[in-house]
Amino acid sequence: MANLLFAGNWKMNGTGKSLNEVAELAASEIKPGLKVLICPPATLISRMADALKKTDIEVGGQDCHDKPSGAYTGEISAKMLNDAGATYVILGHSERRQNRGESDSSVRAKVSIAWRADLITIVCVGETEEQRNKGETLAIVESQIDQSIPDGANSDNLVIAYEPVWAIGTGKTPTLGQIAEVHEFIRNYCIDRFGEVEGHCIRLLYGGSMKPDNARDILGIENVNGGLIGGASLEASDLLGIISNSQLK
Ligand code: PEP
Repeated sequence: MANLLFAGNWKMNGTGKSLNEVAELAASEIKPGLKVLICPPATLISRMADALKKTDIEVGGQDCHDKPSGAYTGEISAKMLNDAGATYVILGHSERRQNRGESDSSVRAKVSIAWRADLITIVCVGETEEQRNKGETLAIVESQIDQSIPDGANSDNLVIAYEPVWAIGTGKTPTLGQIAEVHEFIRNYCIDRFGEVEGHCIRLLYGGSMKPDNARDILGIENVNGGLIGGASLEASDLLGIISNSQLK
């Protein structure tokens, strides 16, 4: 298994022209042991997967429906993502939890359906600023993980991204100590629930305003196994800056 995972979340950004950015990634030397994943809008998955097929860079979706198929106009199923060339899917991103009212139980249903479609799920959890100020961070993260992740998780089908809501797209980041505390908590949770071996190997990503200039410190924290990167993944130069600032663990 690769040592660190860098997952770019393009959100609702990108058209065919943006494939130039992945061409630049494809042409760069990425150290063995580092895995790169780009999650573009669904409209680009197939073209991006084609553009990257001779590389180790993978492509993922940003969401999927919680049913396998049916009369759900405008929705995209996990199987469709897989068919288009995706190998991962981000689920429970805070922008969906907040803007789309996505509940833990809906995320849990999506995770199960994504596993059935052979997708690796990146489940996002994290507290709001108000919850942090009230000292509720660990309780919120525990309840989100508990309720969003079905039994049967292992290091081959699950990645967890800790993304404090107040750090996403704001330029603010938690202190290194705060990140370390939450990641250690999630690691211990995973060991308790999924067993010693799998619990240690499940990748835990940090997400929220990760940039080339803070990546080295954040990625140096124990139990941080990579990043979920929004704004700084849109340009290859920024993403490569983050990747090159990482050390193999
Ligand atoms: C995200 O949307 O998952 C994210 C981490 O965004 P940003 O890096 O822009 O804060």
